[in-house]
Amino acid sequence: MSSYVLSAARLAGRGGIIDDGYVVVEGGRVAATGQGRPPALDLPVVDLGQVMLAAGYIDVHVHGGGGYEVNCATRDEVETSVRRMAEFHATHGTTALVATTVSDSPEALRTAVEGVAAVALSPDGPGTGARVLGSHLEGPWISRSRAGAQYPGALRPPSVEELTDLLALSRGTVRIVTLAPELDGATELIRAATAAGVVVSIGHTDADSDEAGAAFRAGASHATHLFNAMAPIHHRRPGPVAAALGDSRVYLEIIADGIHIHPTLISLVATVAPDRLVLVTDAIGATGTSPGLHRLGPLEVLVEDGRAVLAEHHETVAGSVLTMDRAVALAVHVAGVPLEVALRAASLHPATQLGETTRGHLAEGADADIVLLDDELAVVGTLVGGRVVHDPAGLLHAVSSLSRPRSAPAAGTVPAQATGTVPAQATGSVLAQATGSVLAPAGGSVAGNGDDSLPGEPGGRPLAPL
Ligand SMILES: [Zn+2]
Repeated sequence: MSSYVLSAARLAGRGGIIDDGYVVVEGGRVAATGQGRPPALDLPVVDLGQVMLAAGYIDVHVHGGGGYEVNCATRDEVETSVRRMAEFHATHGTTALVATTVSDSPEALRTAVEGVAAVALSPDGPGTGARVLGSHLEGPWISRSRAGAQYPGALRPPSVEELTDLLALSRGTVRIVTLAPELDGATELIRAATAAGVVVSIGHTDADSDEAGAAFRAGASHATHLFNAMAPIHHRRPGPVAAALGDSRVYLEIIADGIHIHPTLISLVATVAPDRLVLVTDAIGATGTSPGLHRLGPLEVLVEDGRAVLAEHHETVAGSVLTMDRAVALAVHVAGVPLEVALRAASLHPATQLGETTRGHLAEGADADIVLLDDELAVVGTLVGGRVVHDPAGLLHAVSSLSRPRSAPAAGTVPAQATGTVPAQATGSVLAQATGSVLAPAGGSVAGNGDDSLPGEPGGRPLAPL
């Protein structure tokens, strides 16, 4: 596997955001990071100009994207679909995801976790998209009165037996279970899941604050799309939101599309719990596709005028068409969340919650899962395990060239540095000058990411709440 040094105007590392940062990538991992002139290694140095390097995004709640979704009829279809959605979301900065099911029949969920496991445990690794870390079961053990766009016919009481079956079929790749803790049998399910190393999240729940608190004491440590599909805060009936906000053990999912919750509340959560905020998309298969009829598990969804609603019931919104790049940008630009907090909420916090110690940050020993951001926080490049999976403006062409056979580079476009024959010190301290015209600086105008436009831009209106 190729090794190289990335340098850029800014680097979001564990210690914060620094100017003139570099990342040394060796064997798919981060070997070192630092500021200023990279160390004199015999490695090609790729200067990225005005780009910011940050840890790739990790989406722990995503049902689909690019026309593909997790819930499918056969295991092979699930496997293919999950790979395609992972490729789609990689173009929006996601380098790892937890493929999320919606409530479905027992057979369908068995098929889904098997298919996801086939991808997650594949010896090929992430392939050409984001890593697939496993599955997130959103239901079927949720409240009928808070079902939202989950298929009512698939809801059922918590069953340790069904969980045990799914855990076995998943070969240990079920990572998160969302359930309603007030249901009979939920406490036993929380204990069984957490004992198996699965994160338990409360969601689609009618629990009050006492029931939510009891769930956290039993081992639940996560809240699924906080505020959505649960009772709101009331000063005499604080509900699950207050219980989750007030418990330092609990990570808090937010769908930062500006529709699911008001930006003021995104800001509030970031202020009250800056180390527990987790940005998620809750994206459905229609994300990144054209308007019209799509599916959300067993249900038909209509995407029209920038909203996704149940085809049979237009008053019920059905998931989001959000992507992680837009979530981070909205959190920062609209909700006013500090950039460092928003980036950690999209990378470090979900990694920490999942126990993924080599992901979600850029420091020595971490996987080289890196997102390149322009000044507007649009994604201008994505690397997974040091491999280029998204490069719309050609900024990472030199890195891509390293993994090609020496005999087949694109003529005239591979910089000398990329061949490995020029030692890093030869590039000097002003890397932008040394690399010259080989690598165009990625200023704010180098977006090149198709439909990545931010809310308010043409074609980029925020869409579809759950
Ligand atoms: Zn969901």
